[in-house]
Amino acid sequence: MSDHALLVTVFWALTLIDGAWVGRRARFSFVSWLGGRHAWPVLRRWHGLSPWPGGWRVMADDLPVAFSPAGLCNWPAGSAARPAATPAVVQAWRWEEIASVSEEAGQLVVNGRPFCAATPLFTASDLLALAGACAPLSPEARAILLRVRLRLWLRPAHLRRRATVLRARTAGLVLGNGLTLAGTVLISLSFLSRLPESGAVTLPEFAVGLLGLHCLSVGLAWWERRHLVRFIRETPPPPSPLLGVLLYPPGALRLRALLGASWFPPSHPVAVALAVAPPAARDELVFNALADLRWPLAPAGGEPLAEEILTWYRRTLGEELEVLLKRESVDIARLFVPPEPDGAASCAYCPRCRAQFVVAGGSCPQGVALRPLK
Ligand SMILES: [Zn+2]
Repeated sequence: MSDHALLVTVFWALTLIDGAWVGRRARFSFVSWLGGRHAWPVLRRWHGLSPWPGGWRVMADDLPVAFSPAGLCNWPAGSAARPAATPAVVQAWRWEEIASVSEEAGQLVVNGRPFCAATPLFTASDLLALAGACAPLSPEARAILLRVRLRLWLRPAHLRRRATVLRARTAGLVLGNGLTLAGTVLISLSFLSRLPESGAVTLPEFAVGLLGLHCLSVGLAWWERRHLVRFIRETPPPPSPLLGVLLYPPGALRLRALLGASWFPPSHPVAVALAVAPPAARDELVFNALADLRWPLAPAGGEPLAEEILTWYRRTLGEELEVLLKRESVDIARLFVPPEPDGAASCAYCPRCRAQFVVAGGSCPQGVALRPLK
């Protein structure tokens, strides 16, 4: 392989893996491949970016805990993921018992014991601050505080507005990146095939022009980022990734996705689905979350405090989701219509996983009571 071919291969390999995410646990990535207003959810342990500069994405996680005025439990409820991530050992703490929270190897450690996965929804300092805020309050005041906290993760209208602002603010960047991409493809092809130069523009001149376009795009991204940061009024603003990509052109071909990475506030997957997912994908996630509240998987060896916490949390999250879905004009009853029988012998189904059975009564392997198929 010639030096030129090696350079071209390395450049495109770095461009393709730029923005890739690989983690210990599965996360939702809502990806808009072409830059439209809809983004499709995918749940897995790795994610890539759209190769097209117009693409953008929102990452989201199920909340790995449940809480109530009594305390905090590491058994999740209202999970949109299937299978829902559940802990091997159920733990519950009263708010006043939580003395220390730290993050180690992607886990939140509460009072010295590994508790749950660390997510952007709940960092160690968030959790410690919440415990400190709840501890001196009455149960009624705690309930209000926790409900407000829950609502912060359930704001589809806000997420939709952010997606619109991001797309509008970065339209010029997509144009700049698109031109750079086309120019880079051309220059790569001419390197590989050793095309004779046309005479009008020499290869070095073309490369300098591309470099100028790259710097111009990053400069424009810096300008737009100032407006975006002002819009979210976060103090301190998230660290800027732009100086890094100025010196690393493979990372600067998708500036919209780069600015979008820290643009969406941590949210429940259902809120993101309501904001940006197309109807079928949205309905699936809404169904999963509601089914997890209505037919929860029982924690193994559940202790009374965990049960108390989960009862409050399921009821409260269910109420909040119901109000939200009504506002978003999602017909909940339609989601829970019994499925059509998949065979002549099918006579029962599991309302949670929708699997069908040929024996009426009993329960599915996950312990959910079966319902008759009409
Ligand atoms: Zn089932």
